[in-house]
Amino acid sequence: MKTSIAGNNLKKYCEKALLLGFTRAKPSVVTAPWVRLKCRFGCPGYGQSYCCPPNTPTPEETRRILDCYRSAILLQFEVPDSPDCKKLFRKAMKALVDVEGEIFKDGYYKAFAFISGPCSLCRECASISGNPCVFGYRARPSMESCGVDVFQTARGNGLSIRTLKNRTDTQNKYCLMLVD
Ligand code: SF4
Repeated sequence: MKTSIAGNNLKKYCEKALLLGFTRAKPSVVTAPWVRLKCRFGCPGYGQSYCCPPNTPTPEETRRILDCYRSAILLQFEVPDSPDCKKLFRKAMKALVDVEGEIFKDGYYKAFAFISGPCSLCRECASISGNPCVFGYRARPSMESCGVDVFQTARGNGLSIRTLKNRTDTQNKYCLMLVD
């Protein structure tokens, strides 16, 4: 299922994201039931984080959430293999949540950011020990953890994404900012 959601009025935030190191900004989102299968089987992170399944919204819930929004920004972030890549990536994810705050303060009270990949704010997620989230203000789920088909979403917008053959390949990460 696909929802096309555009936003000329979001140019300012797209430009801001580009300055933060995201390489492109485009609108549109696809959800699919199969995505959670990849989390549930074959991922060691399943059930290990407040930002991973089964703690995150199902594809059906996400679809309903997406339908509450009139606008979104899809953000591409390239991560070349380098000693600093994890650090740079973590910094970009934090900056994205800051942008969410700015959008909120500009009056878009429903602003919400989906990051890429598992939450990496703590070395070990507090969910494992049954304690509350350590950075509840800043922790955000990824699109894929909420059932978004990131490959189809990216390709549907003419953006590049492919399965990687080696750990050293440049990664194409995607994030989503819902705005309304
Ligand atoms: S901020 Fe820490 S405790 Fe909260 S979801 Fe992320 S890793 Fe888990």
